Amino acid sequence: MICYVAAEHAHGDVRVPLTPATAAALVKLGLDVHAHPGLGRASHYADEEYQAAGVAFTTEHVSGLHRADLVLRVRPPSATDIGRMKRGAVHLSFFDPFHERGLIMAFAHAGVSAVSMEMIPRTTLAQKMDALSSQASLAGYAAVIQAAARLRRALPMMMTPAGTILPARVFVIGAGVAGLQAIATAKRLGARVEAFDTRPAVEEQVRSLGAKFVKIDLGETGQTAGGYAQALTPEQIARQQAAMVKICAQADVVITTAKVFGRKAPRLVTAEMLAGMRAGSVVVDLAIESGGNVEGAVAGEDVVTSRGVTIIGQPCLEGTVAHHASQVLAANYAAWITHFWDTSKRALRLDPPDEILRGCLITHGGAIVHPQFVP
Ligand code: NAD
Repeated sequence: MICYVAAEHAHGDVRVPLTPATAAALVKLGLDVHAHPGLGRASHYADEEYQAAGVAFTTEHVSGLHRADLVLRVRPPSATDIGRMKRGAVHLSFFDPFHERGLIMAFAHAGVSAVSMEMIPRTTLAQKMDALSSQASLAGYAAVIQAAARLRRALPMMMTPAGTILPARVFVIGAGVAGLQAIATAKRLGARVEAFDTRPAVEEQVRSLGAKFVKIDLGETGQTAGGYAQALTPEQIARQQAAMVKICAQADVVITTAKVFGRKAPRLVTAEMLAGMRAGSVVVDLAIESGGNVEGAVAGEDVVTSRGVTIIGQPCLEGTVAHHASQVLAANYAAWITHFWDTSKRALRLDPPDEILRGCLITHGGAIVHPQFVP
């Protein structure tokens, strides 16, 4: 079975779905792994390391895709590339199936089995394949580092003979995987951290990291069976915004990570709230790729408001630590492949009744098979 990995750096994202370590594991399983030379160069994985792991290099992208039984990529493919794949091949990537109907149709039409990395169930059994978590964790870390680099203040308290520097105040909105890592990072750097999430279960986790949980009474918020937040009503959002005005005004850094799975992110930080913040404060919008939590945030840019507040709208912050983001992401891909590998047939076995597969397989056998996307 041939596995092909193209070297793609779409939108400046240099993460890769295959590292030398995972290549060695796939070769050991019995896969014939082909990749484009220079695949991991930008994330500091050398060609020689891939070759030592048993990867065969090819510069023929079109025939690489055409011959492959399995294609790995980080970002969504183009419809053209889908059309170049052979029927029955398997494609693993993030591709935002909730908003990419055209790609789903193209996969079905090409007879390609499309696996959506964002749809892998967040269950204990699938934990090793949970690419949303592995990437969100690094994004949360990077958000604090990026904010600290722009903040013209120190984060920790420092007592010096020349006077005392007070700790910076960090407010994290949304304490899921990314938010909890942002809290932990800001705490390690010595900041005073507060956080809020609509899921009440999070309070204990926030406290255990040494941060203060901000209490806002929004009435019934709840969560889905899968553990995700429910969308709030407009009245609840307004109450949340009103309660956060003062906390934002006192914060040096606000990090927003609030998302509602499969839907547009809620707008939580308004222009009015930004106007109340001190000049020099920094806001990081980690939900920018799903619509943004912060009014005025622009994807891919730092926006400085007229009051001197910097809003960081850089998408894919985990890409700033691409070496480690790739390490864990590639491990997620390898775990998926290993789980579905049939040792006797030396091929992938896509077993429809499998609980993990039911969650993440969107197209198969020329049709859309995932119930959420069936027309
Ligand atoms: P996410 O990226 O969908 O959302 C980020 C956070 O934003 C969530 O904590 C959510 O509650 C919060 N949020 C949504 N609306 C908000 C609002 N208006 N104000 C403040 N916060 C708001 O979530 P995620 O980080 O991917 O995690 C989702 C869930 O999955 C969590 O419960 C997490 O514990 C769970 N999870 C389970 C596993 C596992 O069991 N293997 C692995 C990873 C995550």
